[in-house]
Amino acid sequence: MARLVMKFGGTSVADIDRIRIVARHVKREVDAGFQVAVVVSAMSGKTNELVSWTRAAAPMHDAREYDAVVASGEQVTSGLLAIALQEMGINARSWQGWQIPIRTDGAHGAARIVDIDGSRLIERLEQGQVAVVAGFQGLGPDNRIATLGRGGSDTSAVAIAAAIKADRCDIYTDVDGVYTTDPRMVPKAKRLDRVSHEEMLEMASLGAKVLQVRSVELAMVHGVRTFVRSSFVDPEDPGLADPNNPPGTLICDEDEIVEKQVVTGIAYAKDEAQISLREVADKPGVAAAVFVPLAEANINVDMIVQNVSEDGTTTDMTFTVPNTDFDRAWKVLAEARDSIGYTSVQGSRDLTKVSVIGIGMRSHAGVAASAFKALAGKGINIRAITTSEIKISILIDAAYTELAVRTLHSLYGLDAA
Ligand code: ADP
Ligand code: ASP
Ligand code: MG
Repeated sequence: MARLVMKFGGTSVADIDRIRIVARHVKREVDAGFQVAVVVSAMSGKTNELVSWTRAAAPMHDAREYDAVVASGEQVTSGLLAIALQEMGINARSWQGWQIPIRTDGAHGAARIVDIDGSRLIERLEQGQVAVVAGFQGLGPDNRIATLGRGGSDTSAVAIAAAIKADRCDIYTDVDGVYTTDPRMVPKAKRLDRVSHEEMLEMASLGAKVLQVRSVELAMVHGVRTFVRSSFVDPEDPGLADPNNPPGTLICDEDEIVEKQVVTGIAYAKDEAQISLREVADKPGVAAAVFVPLAEANINVDMIVQNVSEDGTTTDMTFTVPNTDFDRAWKVLAEARDSIGYTSVQGSRDLTKVSVIGIGMRSHAGVAASAFKALAGKGINIRAITTSEIKISILIDAAYTELAVRTLHSLYGLDAA
Protein backbone atom coordinates (compact mmCIF):
# COMPACT_ATOMS: atom_id res chain seq x y z
CA MET A 1 0.00 0.00 0.00
CA ALA A 2 1.35 3.43 -0.87
CA ARG A 3 2.56 5.59 1.98
CA LEU A 4 2.39 9.36 2.25
CA VAL A 5 3.73 12.12 4.50
CA MET A 6 1.57 15.27 4.60
CA LYS A 7 3.04 18.34 6.34
CA PHE A 8 0.91 21.34 7.34
CA GLY A 9 2.55 24.66 8.27
CA GLY A 10 1.48 27.29 10.77
CA THR A 11 -1.14 29.14 8.73
CA SER A 12 -2.68 25.80 7.70
CA VAL A 13 -3.37 24.96 11.37
CA ALA A 14 -3.97 28.54 12.58
CA ASP A 15 -7.25 27.77 14.37
CA ILE A 16 -9.75 24.97 14.96
CA ASP A 17 -11.61 25.63 11.71
CA ARG A 18 -8.37 25.38 9.73
CA ILE A 19 -7.43 22.20 11.61
CA ARG A 20 -10.78 20.71 10.53
CA ILE A 21 -9.97 21.55 6.91
CA VAL A 22 -6.57 19.86 7.35
CA ALA A 23 -8.35 16.79 8.72
CA ARG A 24 -10.48 16.71 5.55
CA HIS A 25 -7.33 16.83 3.40
CA VAL A 26 -5.97 13.89 5.39
CA LYS A 27 -9.28 12.02 5.04
CA ARG A 28 -9.13 12.48 1.25
CA GLU A 29 -5.79 10.64 1.09
CA VAL A 30 -6.88 7.95 3.59
CA ASP A 31 -9.99 7.35 1.48
CA ALA A 32 -7.78 7.14 -1.62
CA GLY A 33 -6.02 4.21 0.07
CA PHE A 34 -2.81 5.79 1.39
CA GLN A 35 -1.14 5.05 4.70
CA VAL A 36 -0.68 8.57 6.07
CA ALA A 37 1.78 10.15 8.49
CA VAL A 38 1.00 13.84 9.09
CA VAL A 39 3.54 16.37 10.37
CA VAL A 40 2.23 19.59 11.89
CA SER A 41 3.70 22.98 12.81
CA ALA A 42 2.54 25.16 15.66
CA MET A 43 -0.42 27.48 15.03
CA SER A 44 0.82 30.53 13.13
CA GLY A 45 2.38 33.14 15.41
CA LYS A 46 2.63 30.68 18.30
CA THR A 47 6.34 29.91 17.98
CA ASN A 48 7.14 33.64 17.83
CA GLU A 49 5.13 34.16 20.98
CA LEU A 50 6.89 31.30 22.79
CA VAL A 51 10.30 32.63 21.70
CA SER A 52 9.38 36.10 22.97
CA TRP A 53 8.40 34.63 26.35
CA THR A 54 11.80 32.96 26.76
CA ARG A 55 13.47 36.31 25.98
CA ALA A 56 11.23 38.16 28.40
CA ALA A 57 12.10 35.65 31.14
CA ALA A 58 15.83 36.25 30.53
CA PRO A 59 17.54 37.73 27.46
CA MET A 60 20.35 35.14 27.75
CA HIS A 61 18.95 31.74 28.67
CA ASP A 62 19.57 28.00 28.72
CA ALA A 63 19.01 26.68 25.17
CA ARG A 64 17.63 23.39 26.59
CA GLU A 65 14.88 25.31 28.39
CA TYR A 66 14.24 27.39 25.24
CA ASP A 67 13.62 24.08 23.46
CA ALA A 68 11.31 22.84 26.24
CA VAL A 69 9.22 25.99 25.76
CA VAL A 70 9.15 26.42 21.98
CA ALA A 71 8.53 22.74 21.16
CA SER A 72 5.20 22.96 22.97
CA GLY A 73 3.43 24.71 20.06
CA GLU A 74 3.66 21.59 17.89
CA GLN A 75 2.53 19.37 20.77
CA VAL A 76 -0.74 21.31 20.92
CA THR A 77 -1.51 21.07 17.18
CA SER A 78 -0.60 17.37 16.96
CA GLY A 79 -3.13 16.57 19.68
CA LEU A 80 -5.80 18.85 18.21
CA LEU A 81 -5.47 17.35 14.72
CA ALA A 82 -5.65 13.80 16.15
CA ILE A 83 -8.88 14.81 17.93
CA ALA A 84 -10.32 16.35 14.72
CA LEU A 85 -9.49 13.17 12.78
CA GLN A 86 -11.03 10.93 15.45
CA GLU A 87 -14.12 13.11 15.33
CA MET A 88 -14.40 12.24 11.61
CA GLY A 89 -14.19 8.55 12.42
CA ILE A 90 -10.54 8.18 11.41
CA ASN A 91 -8.22 6.10 13.58
CA ALA A 92 -5.42 8.52 14.53
CA ARG A 93 -2.98 9.31 17.33
CA SER A 94 -0.42 12.03 18.04
CA TRP A 95 3.33 11.41 18.37
CA GLN A 96 5.85 13.74 19.99
CA GLY A 97 9.43 13.67 18.67
CA TRP A 98 10.68 11.80 21.75
CA GLN A 99 8.01 9.10 21.42
CA ILE A 100 9.11 7.93 17.95
CA PRO A 101 12.00 8.68 18.71
CA ILE A 102 13.55 11.24 16.39
CA ARG A 103 17.18 11.47 17.53
CA THR A 104 19.06 14.74 17.05
CA ASP A 105 22.50 16.09 17.81
CA GLY A 106 23.05 18.31 20.84
CA ALA A 107 22.81 21.73 19.14
CA HIS A 108 19.77 22.89 21.10
CA GLY A 109 17.73 25.48 19.19
CA ALA A 110 19.22 24.45 15.84
CA ALA A 111 19.58 20.69 16.14
CA ARG A 112 20.06 18.31 13.22
CA ILE A 113 18.28 15.00 12.95
CA VAL A 114 20.76 12.12 13.19
CA ASP A 115 18.41 9.13 13.21
CA ILE A 116 14.74 8.20 13.13
CA ASP A 117 13.48 4.79 14.17
CA GLY A 118 10.49 4.46 11.86
CA SER A 119 9.52 0.95 12.97
CA ARG A 120 6.79 1.83 15.46
CA LEU A 121 5.26 4.36 13.10
CA ILE A 122 5.26 1.81 10.28
CA GLU A 123 3.64 -0.78 12.54
CA ARG A 124 0.76 1.57 13.36
CA LEU A 125 0.41 2.81 9.78
CA GLU A 126 0.08 -0.78 8.63
CA GLN A 127 -2.68 -1.28 11.18
CA GLY A 128 -4.53 1.56 9.49
CA GLN A 129 -3.80 4.28 12.04
CA VAL A 130 -2.93 7.82 10.94
CA ALA A 131 0.19 9.12 12.72
CA VAL A 132 0.07 12.83 13.61
CA VAL A 133 3.65 13.85 14.37
CA ALA A 134 4.69 17.08 16.10
CA GLY A 135 7.19 18.73 13.74
CA PHE A 136 10.25 20.83 14.62
CA GLN A 137 11.44 18.58 17.46
CA GLY A 138 13.43 15.54 18.45
CA LEU A 139 15.39 14.11 21.34
CA GLY A 140 19.00 15.20 21.90
CA PRO A 141 21.88 13.01 23.15
CA ASP A 142 21.15 14.35 26.64
CA ASN A 143 17.63 12.87 26.38
CA ARG A 144 16.10 16.33 26.33
CA ILE A 145 13.81 17.87 23.73
CA ALA A 146 15.73 19.60 20.94
CA THR A 147 14.24 21.84 18.24
CA LEU A 148 15.43 21.98 14.64
CA GLY A 149 15.68 25.72 13.97
CA ARG A 150 12.95 27.98 12.61
CA GLY A 151 10.94 26.44 9.81
CA GLY A 152 12.12 23.01 11.00
CA SER A 153 8.84 21.14 10.52
CA ASP A 154 9.64 20.87 6.80
CA THR A 155 12.77 18.97 7.79
CA SER A 156 10.82 16.76 10.20
CA ALA A 157 8.47 15.86 7.36
CA VAL A 158 11.14 14.95 4.80
CA ALA A 159 13.19 13.05 7.40
CA ILE A 160 10.14 11.03 8.45
CA ALA A 161 9.28 10.36 4.80
CA ALA A 162 12.80 8.93 4.35
CA ALA A 163 12.56 6.89 7.58
CA ILE A 164 9.21 5.28 6.75
CA LYS A 165 10.06 4.97 3.02
CA ALA A 166 7.11 7.09 1.98
CA ASP A 167 6.26 7.29 -1.71
CA ARG A 168 5.79 11.04 -1.45
CA CYS A 169 6.13 13.97 0.94
CA ASP A 170 3.56 16.73 0.43
CA ILE A 171 4.39 20.07 2.08
CA TYR A 172 1.08 21.95 2.43
CA THR A 173 1.37 25.68 2.99
CA ASP A 174 -0.44 28.96 2.26
CA VAL A 175 0.74 29.17 -1.37
CA ASP A 176 0.14 26.54 -4.04
CA GLY A 177 3.77 25.86 -4.86
CA VAL A 178 7.21 27.38 -5.31
CA TYR A 179 7.10 30.59 -7.33
CA THR A 180 9.70 32.46 -9.36
CA THR A 181 9.93 34.78 -6.35
CA ASP A 182 7.92 35.45 -3.18
CA PRO A 183 4.37 35.85 -4.58
CA ARG A 184 3.48 38.07 -1.63
CA MET A 185 5.98 40.66 -2.81
CA VAL A 186 5.61 40.24 -6.58
CA PRO A 187 2.05 39.50 -7.67
CA LYS A 188 3.36 38.73 -11.17
CA ALA A 189 5.42 35.79 -9.85
CA LYS A 190 4.73 32.50 -11.64
CA ARG A 191 4.28 29.09 -10.09
CA LEU A 192 6.95 26.62 -11.14
CA ASP A 193 5.87 23.05 -11.96
CA ARG A 194 9.31 21.69 -11.11
CA VAL A 195 12.41 23.02 -9.38
CA SER A 196 15.72 21.18 -9.17
CA HIS A 197 17.16 20.34 -5.76
CA GLU A 198 20.19 22.54 -6.42
CA GLU A 199 18.06 25.58 -7.26
CA MET A 200 15.71 25.00 -4.35
CA LEU A 201 18.69 24.73 -2.00
CA GLU A 202 19.94 28.10 -3.22
CA MET A 203 16.50 29.70 -3.09
CA ALA A 204 15.89 28.44 0.46
CA SER A 205 19.30 29.39 1.78
CA LEU A 206 19.09 32.82 0.12
CA GLY A 207 15.80 33.74 1.76
CA ALA A 208 12.79 31.94 0.19
CA LYS A 209 11.33 30.56 3.38
CA VAL A 210 8.83 28.27 1.65
CA LEU A 211 11.09 25.29 2.55
CA GLN A 212 13.75 25.00 5.25
CA VAL A 213 17.17 24.46 3.63
CA ARG A 214 17.87 21.26 5.53
CA SER A 215 14.63 19.68 4.26
CA VAL A 216 15.80 20.18 0.67
CA GLU A 217 19.19 18.63 1.47
CA LEU A 218 17.48 15.58 2.97
CA ALA A 219 15.08 15.27 0.04
CA MET A 220 18.04 15.33 -2.34
CA VAL A 221 20.18 12.86 -0.39
CA HIS A 222 17.39 10.37 0.33
CA GLY A 223 15.52 10.78 -2.97
CA VAL A 224 12.26 11.82 -1.26
CA ARG A 225 9.70 12.98 -3.84
CA THR A 226 8.66 16.32 -2.36
CA PHE A 227 5.74 18.46 -3.50
CA VAL A 228 4.87 21.95 -2.26
CA ARG A 229 1.10 22.49 -2.37
CA SER A 230 -1.71 24.52 -0.84
CA SER A 231 -3.95 23.60 2.08
CA PHE A 232 -6.11 26.61 1.12
CA VAL A 233 -8.11 24.72 -1.48
CA ASP A 234 -11.30 22.76 -1.01
CA PRO A 235 -10.24 19.28 0.18
CA GLU A 236 -13.12 17.81 -1.84
CA ASP A 237 -12.02 19.42 -5.11
CA PRO A 238 -11.94 16.50 -7.60
CA GLY A 239 -8.91 18.14 -9.26
CA LEU A 240 -6.79 17.03 -6.29
CA ALA A 241 -7.43 13.35 -6.91
CA ASP A 242 -4.61 12.29 -9.29
CA PRO A 243 -2.34 10.26 -6.98
CA ASN A 244 0.77 10.52 -9.16
CA ASN A 245 0.52 14.13 -10.11
CA PRO A 246 -0.69 16.33 -7.28
CA PRO A 247 -1.09 20.05 -8.02
CA GLY A 248 1.87 22.06 -6.79
CA THR A 249 5.62 22.16 -7.36
CA LEU A 250 7.77 19.04 -7.50
CA ILE A 251 11.30 19.37 -6.11
CA CYS A 252 13.29 16.95 -8.26
CA ASP A 253 16.61 16.06 -9.84
CA GLU A 254 17.91 18.35 -12.56
CA ASP A 255 17.50 15.70 -15.27
CA GLU A 256 13.75 15.58 -14.62
CA ILE A 257 13.44 19.18 -15.79
CA VAL A 258 12.78 19.41 -19.49
CA GLU A 259 12.61 23.14 -20.09
CA LYS A 260 15.67 24.65 -18.49
CA GLN A 261 15.54 28.42 -17.93
CA VAL A 262 18.64 30.57 -17.58
CA VAL A 263 17.15 32.16 -14.46
CA THR A 264 14.60 30.21 -12.42
CA GLY A 265 13.95 32.55 -9.53
CA ILE A 266 14.81 35.58 -7.42
CA ALA A 267 15.20 35.35 -3.64
CA TYR A 268 15.84 38.01 -1.06
CA ALA A 269 17.01 38.08 2.54
CA LYS A 270 16.38 41.17 4.61
CA ASP A 271 18.10 41.89 7.92
CA GLU A 272 21.66 41.87 6.67
CA ALA A 273 24.32 44.21 8.06
CA GLN A 274 27.68 45.29 6.68
CA ILE A 275 30.92 46.07 8.48
CA SER A 276 34.00 47.68 6.92
CA LEU A 277 37.43 47.73 8.51
CA ARG A 278 39.58 50.56 7.18
CA GLU A 279 43.30 50.31 6.57
CA VAL A 280 44.05 46.82 7.79
CA ALA A 281 47.56 45.58 7.03
CA ASP A 282 47.80 43.92 3.59
CA LYS A 283 49.77 40.86 4.71
CA PRO A 284 49.28 37.13 5.39
CA GLY A 285 47.24 36.29 8.50
CA VAL A 286 45.04 39.38 8.54
CA ALA A 287 41.88 37.62 7.30
CA ALA A 288 42.37 35.00 10.00
CA ALA A 289 42.82 37.74 12.63
CA VAL A 290 39.44 39.20 11.59
CA PHE A 291 37.35 36.09 10.98
CA VAL A 292 38.60 33.60 13.57
CA PRO A 293 37.34 35.65 16.56
CA LEU A 294 33.98 36.16 14.76
CA ALA A 295 33.69 32.42 14.11
CA GLU A 296 34.55 31.67 17.74
CA ALA A 297 31.69 33.97 18.75
CA ASN A 298 29.40 31.90 16.47
CA ILE A 299 28.80 34.85 14.15
CA ASN A 300 28.01 33.82 10.58
CA VAL A 301 29.97 35.93 8.12
CA ASP A 302 28.53 35.85 4.63
CA MET A 303 29.78 38.12 1.83
CA ILE A 304 33.42 39.20 2.06
CA VAL A 305 35.02 41.88 -0.10
CA GLN A 306 38.65 42.90 0.19
CA ASN A 307 39.80 45.90 -1.78
CA VAL A 308 43.00 45.94 -3.75
CA SER A 309 45.66 47.67 -1.76
CA GLU A 310 46.55 51.07 -3.18
CA ASP A 311 49.85 51.58 -1.41
CA GLY A 312 50.81 47.92 -0.96
CA THR A 313 50.68 48.19 2.82
CA THR A 314 47.03 48.57 3.84
CA THR A 315 43.62 47.58 2.47
CA ASP A 316 39.93 47.82 3.41
CA MET A 317 37.94 44.74 4.31
CA THR A 318 34.14 44.61 4.10
CA PHE A 319 31.83 41.76 5.06
CA THR A 320 28.23 41.06 6.05
CA VAL A 321 26.71 39.51 9.17
CA PRO A 322 23.06 39.01 10.17
CA ASN A 323 21.56 42.22 11.59
CA THR A 324 20.85 40.39 14.85
CA ASP A 325 24.59 39.70 15.30
CA PHE A 326 25.73 43.23 14.40
CA ASP A 327 26.27 44.50 17.96
CA ARG A 328 28.11 41.36 19.01
CA ALA A 329 30.32 41.49 15.90
CA TRP A 330 31.13 45.13 16.63
CA LYS A 331 32.19 44.20 20.16
CA VAL A 332 34.31 41.24 19.02
CA LEU A 333 36.10 43.47 16.48
CA ALA A 334 36.71 46.18 19.08
CA GLU A 335 38.26 43.60 21.40
CA ALA A 336 40.44 42.22 18.59
CA ARG A 337 41.52 45.68 17.37
CA ASP A 338 45.13 45.35 18.53
CA SER A 339 45.66 41.96 16.92
CA ILE A 340 43.94 43.00 13.64
CA GLY A 341 45.32 46.53 13.50
CA TYR A 342 42.70 48.61 11.62
CA THR A 343 42.38 52.40 11.81
CA SER A 344 38.57 52.68 11.88
CA VAL A 345 35.43 50.60 11.52
CA GLN A 346 32.19 51.53 9.78
CA GLY A 347 28.89 49.72 9.74
CA SER A 348 25.47 49.82 8.07
CA ARG A 349 22.38 47.98 9.15
CA ASP A 350 19.12 47.41 7.27
CA LEU A 351 20.50 45.90 4.13
CA THR A 352 19.04 43.22 1.86
CA LYS A 353 20.73 40.51 -0.17
CA VAL A 354 18.91 39.93 -3.45
CA SER A 355 19.86 36.78 -5.36
CA VAL A 356 19.29 35.59 -8.91
CA ILE A 357 19.22 31.78 -9.18
CA GLY A 358 19.25 29.39 -12.14
CA ILE A 359 21.04 26.25 -13.25
CA GLY A 360 21.07 27.67 -16.78
CA MET A 361 23.58 30.29 -15.62
CA ARG A 362 26.27 27.60 -15.83
CA SER A 363 26.18 27.81 -19.59
CA HIS A 364 25.19 31.46 -20.14
CA ALA A 365 27.45 34.47 -19.87
CA GLY A 366 26.27 38.00 -19.16
CA VAL A 367 23.56 37.26 -16.58
CA ALA A 368 25.35 39.22 -13.86
CA ALA A 369 26.22 42.12 -16.13
CA SER A 370 22.59 42.62 -17.16
CA ALA A 371 21.51 42.60 -13.49
CA PHE A 372 24.02 45.30 -12.59
CA LYS A 373 22.91 47.43 -15.54
CA ALA A 374 19.21 47.07 -14.69
CA LEU A 375 19.78 48.00 -11.03
CA ALA A 376 21.92 50.97 -12.03
CA GLY A 377 19.08 52.09 -14.31
CA LYS A 378 16.82 52.26 -11.22
CA GLY A 379 19.45 54.19 -9.23
CA ILE A 380 20.09 51.27 -6.85
CA ASN A 381 23.58 51.24 -5.38
CA ILE A 382 25.31 47.86 -5.12
CA ARG A 383 27.32 47.43 -1.92
CA ALA A 384 28.74 43.95 -2.43
CA ILE A 385 28.45 41.05 -4.88
CA THR A 386 29.08 37.31 -4.59
CA THR A 387 28.57 34.67 -7.23
CA SER A 388 28.57 30.91 -7.61
CA GLU A 389 27.97 28.67 -10.61
CA ILE A 390 24.18 28.98 -10.33
CA LYS A 391 23.57 32.24 -8.43
CA ILE A 392 24.46 35.91 -8.10
CA SER A 393 23.88 37.71 -4.82
CA ILE A 394 23.78 41.49 -4.58
CA LEU A 395 23.77 43.53 -1.38
CA ILE A 396 21.66 46.71 -1.43
CA ASP A 397 19.91 49.08 0.97
CA ALA A 398 16.74 47.47 2.36
CA ALA A 399 14.59 50.39 1.19
CA TYR A 400 15.14 49.23 -2.41
CA THR A 401 14.29 45.55 -1.84
CA GLU A 402 10.97 45.50 -3.60
CA LEU A 403 12.14 47.63 -6.52
CA ALA A 404 15.22 45.45 -7.02
CA VAL A 405 13.31 42.15 -6.85
CA ARG A 406 10.65 43.38 -9.29
CA THR A 407 13.23 44.85 -11.66
CA LEU A 408 15.22 41.60 -11.83
CA HIS A 409 12.05 39.49 -12.06
CA SER A 410 11.00 41.44 -15.18
CA LEU A 411 14.53 41.57 -16.59
CA TYR A 412 14.81 37.78 -16.79
CA GLY A 413 11.36 37.32 -18.31
CA LEU A 414 9.80 35.77 -15.22
CA ASP A 415 6.69 37.99 -15.01
CA ALA A 416 3.37 36.24 -15.61
CA ALA A 417 1.61 37.47 -18.72
P1 ADP B 1 4.43 27.41 6.56
O1 ADP B 1 3.91 28.08 7.78
O2 ADP B 1 3.36 26.65 5.82
O3 ADP B 1 5.65 26.59 6.80
P2 ADP B 1 6.03 29.58 5.49
O4 ADP B 1 5.53 30.91 5.87
O5 ADP B 1 7.19 29.02 6.22
O6 ADP B 1 4.79 28.56 5.53
O7 ADP B 1 6.38 29.54 3.92
C1 ADP B 1 5.43 29.94 2.97
C2 ADP B 1 5.70 31.37 2.53
O8 ADP B 1 6.94 31.42 1.83
C3 ADP B 1 4.71 31.92 1.55
O9 ADP B 1 3.60 32.48 2.21
C4 ADP B 1 5.51 32.97 0.76
O10 ADP B 1 5.25 34.29 1.20
C5 ADP B 1 6.96 32.65 1.14
N1 ADP B 1 7.83 32.54 -0.04
C6 ADP B 1 9.02 33.16 -0.20
N2 ADP B 1 9.55 32.89 -1.37
C7 ADP B 1 8.70 32.07 -2.02
C8 ADP B 1 8.71 31.42 -3.30
N3 ADP B 1 9.71 31.59 -4.15
N4 ADP B 1 7.65 30.64 -3.63
C9 ADP B 1 6.63 30.46 -2.77
N5 ADP B 1 6.56 31.04 -1.54
C10 ADP B 1 7.58 31.83 -1.16
N1 ASP C 1 6.81 26.31 14.38
C1 ASP C 1 8.20 26.35 13.97
C2 ASP C 1 8.53 27.75 13.45
O1 ASP C 1 7.67 28.61 13.44
C3 ASP C 1 8.54 25.31 12.95
C4 ASP C 1 7.81 25.40 11.64
O2 ASP C 1 6.77 26.06 11.54
O3 ASP C 1 8.28 24.78 10.68
O4 ASP C 1 9.64 28.01 13.12
MG1 MG D 1 7.69 27.13 7.02
